[in-house]
Amino acid sequence: MKLLVVGGAGYIGSHTVRQLRGAGHEVAVFDNLVSGHAEAVPGGVELIRGDLLDAASIRAALEAQQPDAVIHFAALIEVGESMREPEKYYRNNVVGSLNLLAALKDTRPVPLVFSSTAAVYGTTDAVPIPEDAPLRPESVYGESKLMTENMIRAFHAAHGLPYVILRYFNVCGAAPGGEIGEAHKSKTHLIELACLTALGQREKMMIFGDDYPTPDGTCIRDYVHVQDLADAHVLAVEALHAGRTQAATYNVGLGRGFSVREVLGAVDEVVGTPLRRELAPRRAGDPPRLVADPSRIQAELGFSPRFTDLREIVQTAWDWHRGHPHGFGEG
Ligand code: UDP
Repeated sequence: MKLLVVGGAGYIGSHTVRQLRGAGHEVAVFDNLVSGHAEAVPGGVELIRGDLLDAASIRAALEAQQPDAVIHFAALIEVGESMREPEKYYRNNVVGSLNLLAALKDTRPVPLVFSSTAAVYGTTDAVPIPEDAPLRPESVYGESKLMTENMIRAFHAAHGLPYVILRYFNVCGAAPGGEIGEAHKSKTHLIELACLTALGQREKMMIFGDDYPTPDGTCIRDYVHVQDLADAHVLAVEALHAGRTQAATYNVGLGRGFSVREVLGAVDEVVGTPLRRELAPRRAGDPPRLVADPSRIQAELGFSPRFTDLREIVQTAWDWHRGHPHGFGEG
């Protein structure tokens, strides 16, 4: 199959590009490199520098590449920033996706796999969370993803565009081998921050609240390894291509959660020295517990995550950060 991976130079996109090639597919990447890294695109993969907000550039890329399917990762992803700069998020994530959908409809409606998020659920009492839980995003970021999901469903209904929407839980880790990994310009994710703290780039870890209604009082999240998530994209795009699915929405997670304290404990063990940590107030908008019910993707696509051990997951992240303390380009 020939694939166009929009946002393929980013963290999840670049891992997916590798898994797609490993599965024998041909790949081209379309990325504006605002948050992606050209270094994350492997040799032999064409990198088209373009922006979804430039409707002509995505149209031209589809016409030139004639892909059999498109995977769409390109988005801004910071919850806090989305609340301060809603225009930027609605424009980039919603208008950008609309340009992609319109270009697909007008060139040829090949299947689309879209990166969505557990943030579309907002705070929920459901444990674990099934796909049919109420959709009540609490941030502009989550709202922009839900709006895009709804556009995709409408394009499917009106124009037959086949799709799989994947709702990611907490993506983490790095491909074993330490060649690529998480390198966001602004660092907010727990495991990445803990690794950078262990490297001495930060003084200490803050634990955002220990009075949540959870066993140790800290928030629980479902940490899914980026390579398993990449595999979920390969399964999704292959199912679409084979006509085994036309329209589906799946949670992608392990179906079990770990607390902030458990994650920091695993980092201590992997690194070999305890991180300094300090209790801080709750972070606004953090629900106590977000754990996926992944049974639908397991049953329908055969999703079977290989990284289920927290220490092993953290080890891959640590290997990447230790080898690339300043992300891409500074070794
Ligand atoms: N967290 C924390 N300290 C940090 C960063 C994150 O205690 O320095 C907590 C955060 O409050 C949440 C969990 O770790 O409960 C995961 O946060 P992250 O930002 O990694 O992902 P999110 O769940 O927000 O997508």
